[in-house]
Amino acid sequence: MLRLIEELYPVCRSITGNGVRQTLSRIQREIPLRIEEVPSGTQVFDWNVPLEWNIRDAYIKDASGKRIVDFHASNLHVVSYSVPTSRRMQLSELRPHLHALPDRPEWIPYRTTYYQKDWGFCVSQRQLERMRDGEYEVVIDSTLEPGHLTYGELCIPGATSDEILISCHVCHPSLCNDNLSGVAVTTALAQGIATRARRFTYRFLLIPGTIGAITWLARNEATVSRIRHGLVLSGIGDRSPLSYKRSRQGTAEIDRAVTCILRDSGREHRIMDFSPYGYDERQFCSPGFNLPVGRLSRAPHGQFPQYHTSADNLDFVAPESLAEAAETCLAICDLLEENRTYVNLNPKCEPQLGKRGLYRTIGGSDDAGQREMAMLWTLNLSDGAHSLLDIAERSGLKFEVIQKAAQVLVQHELLREAALDARTTEGRKE
Ligand SMILES: [Zn+2]
Repeated sequence: MLRLIEELYPVCRSITGNGVRQTLSRIQREIPLRIEEVPSGTQVFDWNVPLEWNIRDAYIKDASGKRIVDFHASNLHVVSYSVPTSRRMQLSELRPHLHALPDRPEWIPYRTTYYQKDWGFCVSQRQLERMRDGEYEVVIDSTLEPGHLTYGELCIPGATSDEILISCHVCHPSLCNDNLSGVAVTTALAQGIATRARRFTYRFLLIPGTIGAITWLARNEATVSRIRHGLVLSGIGDRSPLSYKRSRQGTAEIDRAVTCILRDSGREHRIMDFSPYGYDERQFCSPGFNLPVGRLSRAPHGQFPQYHTSADNLDFVAPESLAEAAETCLAICDLLEENRTYVNLNPKCEPQLGKRGLYRTIGGSDDAGQREMAMLWTLNLSDGAHSLLDIAERSGLKFEVIQKAAQVLVQHELLREAALDARTTEGRKE
C-alpha cells in the first residue's frame, strides 16, 4: 500500500483530467477496475459535470528570470482548476492570488477553485516573505475545456445481488492521508475480497469527491437499492486511532458492525454521529438516498493541522496504520458476511451440553469459559429474531467467538439458520 502511495504521490490529480486517468490506470495494474468517462455538461441532479482541467506547467519568475514558485517542485503550488494565465504584474496585483499559512510557515496549503473561474498560487509563508516589490512573470499553462469526468468502478460478484459499497475519492494532488490512504486501502481490500467466498456482491468506487459521487448516484439511481451496507474510506493512513462516522440512519447494520469490530479489536477508537459535512457519505446519505453508508477514517478531516497542506506527505502515513485499516475493513466485511440469524432447535429449557461434549468437565481456562458463555447466549437468543450481531452486542462477547459457537451448535444440530428455514418453506410452496 505504501509503495502504491509513493508512486501516486507526484501525480497532479483534480476532480477531472489526466491525473485521475493516470491514477486509475496505475490501479488497474492491481485490480480490474472499469474506467468510466462522463462528458462535461452532463446534468447530474442539481449539478453539471464541469469542464475538464489539465495542467502542463506553472511558475512565478522574478525580475531576474528565476523561477521562485515552480509547479514542478510541488503540484500544490497551483490552485486546482486555475484558468490559463500568462502575465507580467506587480507584487501588489499578484498578492491577492497568493495563498500561504502564516501559522505554518514551511507548509504549502492546498486550494481549489472548481466552480469559480479564477487562478492562484499556494506558497509557503517563507516564500511569500522573500518576495519583494517589483515585477513578476506569472504563467499557468493549463487548459479548461469540454472533456470528461473520469472515475473507476469494480464490481466483484457474490452469491446474491445484495451489495456492499466501498468508496474513496481520487481527486487530490500530492496529499497522502487525505486521498491516497483511502485509494491504497480500497485497492488492497478489493484484492482481499476477490480471494474470499462471498455472499454479497462488492462494488468499489474510486471517484472524484462530491461531483464524482453525485455523478455516480445520478447514473446508478435505479440500482442503488441493492446497496445493503457501505463504507467511505478516507484519511485512514495517519497514526491516530481509527474513527467511524455513522450513517445518517445511525443504527444501520454497517454502523453496528463497525462499532462491534472496533470494540472487539480492544484498541482505542472513536465513534462519531452522522453530520452532513465530510466526504462522500454526504451524498450517499442525502435524504433522497439515505443509504446505509458510514465513513471509516482516523484523525477526522479538518481536525489535524496537516490537513490540506504539503505536510500531509509520505511521512504522515504509516504502513502499520494502512495495514490495520485494511484488516479492519476485511473484518467488517467478514462480520457482514457471517451475520446470520438462527433458530434454537431445543428451545424448551437448556439442552444438555455435557452429554454432547460441549460442556467443560473440569474447570477450564478462561477461553473455555468464554466459549461456554457464547454457546449459552447463542442458544438463548437464537429465536429467529436475533442475529449473531445482536447476540455479540448484548453479551459483550466478541462477534468472532459468538460466530464460532453458532458453528459448533449447528454441527451438533442444536441450531438451524432461520433464513434457510424460510427458503425451504418457500420451496415447498412452489
Ligand atoms: Zn480533502
